[in-house]
Amino acid sequence: MALVFIALGSNLNSPFLRVSQAITDLSAHRNLRLDNASGLYRSVAIGPDKQPDYCNAVVQVTTALNPESLLDILQDMECQQGRIRAKRWGPRTLDLDLLLYDDQCIESVRLTVPHERMHERAFVLLPLSELTPSNFRLKGQSIRQLLAKCSDRGMVEKIDGSPAII
Ligand code: ATP
Ligand code: CA
Ligand code: CA
Repeated sequence: MALVFIALGSNLNSPFLRVSQAITDLSAHRNLRLDNASGLYRSVAIGPDKQPDYCNAVVQVTTALNPESLLDILQDMECQQGRIRAKRWGPRTLDLDLLLYDDQCIESVRLTVPHERMHERAFVLLPLSELTPSNFRLKGQSIRQLLAKCSDRGMVEKIDGSPAII
């Protein structure tokens, strides 16, 4: 069994509900066991053009699936939520990124793990920090150290309490 972290993001068609529904769908999948989920965060989009704010979260999952099969499932779920791959980093109804798969380093055509850009994104590191132990390190650095260098650190906030309409 592998310990896996997955990042969720949405900035179209009720992002808060999209991410919540995706967490429910992941927990219901027969080949996945949802161990833990972060709270939900709101972040300012950093992609091209002006885009709506994102809702972001990270979940911890245990699975016997290999990384590529897991990616298949994540991409299926993105399609089911109506994601259309238009321009790179454009708005999307759901984005599911495989952040970490045990401590494996993967470099294949379809998959780079750890996710190539996770260490420089506050919208990933903040929710991830809720799920990882204090001695967790990425590229030899703590999440606190990485966050100090994130240019989007000030553009991410936790959505507390009842669902905010975003
Ligand atoms: P970013 O990767 O910067 O977060 P994105 O999530 O918008 O951008 P997508 O359009 O969702 O990018 O995915 C592009 C491709 O990235 C996918 O087709 C997939 O094969 C590849 N990919 C490589 N590594 C990963 C990973 N760790 N998790 C998910 N997809 C990955
Ligand atoms: Ca992404
Ligand atoms: Ca993606």
